[in-house]
Amino acid sequence: MTKSQDVDYIIIGQGLAGSAVAFQLLTMKKRILVIDQPLNNTSSRIAAGLFNPITGQRVVKTWMADRLFPYLHEYYRGVEEVSGEKFLYPMQLYRPFGSFAEQNEWMAKSAGPEFEAYIEDISTRATYPNVNDVYGGLLVRQCGYLDTKCYIESVRKLIAREAIFLDEEAAENDLSILPEGIRYKHYHAGKIIFCNGTHRNKWFDWLPIRPLKGETIRILSSHQQELIINRGVYIVPAHDGGDWRVGATYNLQDNNVGISEDARRELVEKMKELVNFPFNIVGQEWGLRPTTPDRRPILGRHPELRSCFIFNGMGTKGVSLTPFLSEMLIRSIEKGEAINKEVDIERYKLLYWSSPK
Ligand SMILES: Cc1cc2nc3c(=O)[nH]c(=O)nc-3n(C[C@H](O)[C@H](O)[C@H](O)COP(=O)(O)OP(=O)(O)OC[C@H]3O[C@@H](n4cnc5c(N)ncnc54)[C@H](O)[C@@H]3O)c2cc1C
Repeated sequence: MTKSQDVDYIIIGQGLAGSAVAFQLLTMKKRILVIDQPLNNTSSRIAAGLFNPITGQRVVKTWMADRLFPYLHEYYRGVEEVSGEKFLYPMQLYRPFGSFAEQNEWMAKSAGPEFEAYIEDISTRATYPNVNDVYGGLLVRQCGYLDTKCYIESVRKLIAREAIFLDEEAAENDLSILPEGIRYKHYHAGKIIFCNGTHRNKWFDWLPIRPLKGETIRILSSHQQELIINRGVYIVPAHDGGDWRVGATYNLQDNNVGISEDARRELVEKMKELVNFPFNIVGQEWGLRPTTPDRRPILGRHPELRSCFIFNGMGTKGVSLTPFLSEMLIRSIEKGEAINKEVDIERYKLLYWSSPK
């Protein structure tokens, strides 16, 4: 008979969410067991990894940017140092203006303190060769991209070295979540944190986490560019002479598995509106983002099961949200500190009490 083994935490899923939770707990010297079975299209592994503090169709400062962005640089640098691997690529982002009106709007906005930390420069005329920027554009700092696959693999190696990692599907039948603790096969834990993305499970299936399909293409180009270009799509240059990433599509209606011709056409058309250098498409990927109706992540304790927690709903911004929010979740569990109300699972608890048991 296998001897039972005690850990402090079980973590289900090791995408961007589970990686951040696991790293924070390892830093605190907690004993952890991480269970993850990734698929080829796991969202975190196919993401272009972009982080950008000025986003959205209305082009505003992203939610909590002043807290999230300084923290993310420090966090990923910390993981790089411990793992000895490189995956964080800070890089300025250029957003061409679409009109003189937009140019004027940004000239006015940039005079105030709100955007001071993020605006490197504003150009009022075409500035970059091969970019369609007749009205000039906004040069944004504190941006860049994370090589998500390399980051997740690096954290996985750390977990395997310093804790316990199981590359398998954690079946519901193998998990018991009881008041006295968690049991998974021969492992016993004090607490469990679900970082399972769009995979459903019976403990949290009452939460409104919806999959939002997205696709990206990979291109090769001889063009040289040390800048992310973004308007309608983002174009992220390669760091090692390899593939560039262009993305992403957003399609709530498309429930089909796999890549699509429509998405490829949409990305190519948008790219050609934005830049005019030659490129070849060498790949295409798809994945499902875990999104929520109010576009905020969900973190905190299950309404009834005191040792059971969730860290999910990262939507389109897993790279920038998971470092800061994983610390917030763990401080709430370990030290009883409050979770920001906008991301607290508490806001959905009525759904739990009204769901069939
Ligand atoms: C096309 C596309 C482009 C994107 N680009 C960006 C970008 O540029 N920047 C950005 O910040 N975000 C981007 N995103 C969003 C980002 O990918 C998500 O926010 C993030 O990956 C969500 O991470 P997660 O860990 O919550 O979920 P996931 O990545 O889905 O990870 C969950 C993991 O848990 C595992 N799992 C679940 N249940 C079990 C179980 N029972 N047993 C074992 N394993 C389990 C899954 O297999 C998976 O490995 C993009 C997403 C898509 C689809």
